[in-house]
Amino acid sequence: MLAKTVFPLLMNALIASMLAVSFFVITLLNPSARRVRWVALSYGIGVLEPAFLLATLFGADEHMMAVFSACAFLVGTGLMAPALAIVHGGPPMWRAFAAVVIPGVLFYAFIPSTPRSWTLHELIFQSFYAANMALCALATARNVPKSTMANALVIVFIISAIQFVAKPLIGGYTGTDGIEIHYLTSFYAVCSQASGGILLVAAGLLILLLVQQSLVQMNHTQARIDLLTNLPNRRSVTETFQRLTSGTNPPPLSIALVDLDHFKRINDRLGHESGDAVLCLVAEKLRATGPSASVTARIGGEEFVLLLPGCTGEPARLICESMRLSVAALSVPIPHSTSRMALSVSIGLTTVVKGEEMADALRRADHALYEAKQSGRNRCVAALEG
Ligand code: GH3
Ligand code: MG
Ligand code: MG
Repeated sequence: MLAKTVFPLLMNALIASMLAVSFFVITLLNPSARRVRWVALSYGIGVLEPAFLLATLFGADEHMMAVFSACAFLVGTGLMAPALAIVHGGPPMWRAFAAVVIPGVLFYAFIPSTPRSWTLHELIFQSFYAANMALCALATARNVPKSTMANALVIVFIISAIQFVAKPLIGGYTGTDGIEIHYLTSFYAVCSQASGGILLVAAGLLILLLVQQSLVQMNHTQARIDLLTNLPNRRSVTETFQRLTSGTNPPPLSIALVDLDHFKRINDRLGHESGDAVLCLVAEKLRATGPSASVTARIGGEEFVLLLPGCTGEPARLICESMRLSVAALSVPIPHSTSRMALSVSIGLTTVVKGEEMADALRRADHALYEAKQSGRNRCVAALEG
């Protein structure tokens, strides 16, 4: 008996352990990837399936181990669908999980098979796993961003679901012996564990790649967002500028530098925290007032950059003017006082010259901004091109 099933069982235990550890290490190395621990937990519980079966080699009660093993595999595979949904920010479908796992556990624990009822019993037995795989396919299709790898994972889960239903039918056809008593020695068990193992590896590797891909994507996005205001940051706006000005026929583009007036005073009177709140308030106002094609970014302290594609000259100045007015309509309460502090911004605007770098256009916008500050603040000054 050692010869036949023990090897695939050991292999499956090893593969599931390696996957559980890999996903766990990902959560340790990436504080932002804590959700991935659900995938680690799914594989961690899955490891118990072959482990319980192998325990019979050391004298553990076969019937009890078979039930424990079946339940561990059911809970492990059942957790995979919620885990995939949680990792990708979707609804975990806990009700569907319970609808499969609870009747499954009751079936495994209380309804034993006899050699005569084997095929039907095994079909019901495996149908719970098939249902879990179908839920995994659904969770992947619903929550994982569309890609070739995501499609491949859906296909692997569908094949897994079919495999679970097909196994007992093939087993019944080939006249396999009673599962509980002779499971470990049966040819059925060898095929079952081997096919399960191959699909385990295929799904595990795809999930690993998809998790890594989504982490890279998340880091890419986070590296381009200003943490305080959630606006694009300097890196992001620089890339957008390069994208808008590259190509053979780039659209006309205006760039503006927006600076909060007397922000130091606001910080001094209201405190740094309220100063942060003011930055968020102004950021949101600028973002909401700009046209849909415009990009508003925070490039530092109380300075914002505005890109206006397809818009130059007077129309661009009018947009900046409307943004200035919308901020000038804002005010913040002063603690222990009935009066409020008015907010305003000064804006330096310029048209981007064909082929020039953002830094050069910004230098011109900065000169215009300086003029706006010098001439009294709360105004917009347009620089001459070039
Ligand atoms: P001006 O009208 O000439 O632009 O005057 P200002 O006071 O706005 O400009 P100044 O450069 O003298 O001061 C900017 C202040 O912005 C100083 C700095 O402490 C504050 N600041 C920079 N970043 C942040 C931030 O993230 N949060 C808060 N609360 N304050 C910040
Ligand atoms: Mg400034
Ligand atoms: Mg300022």
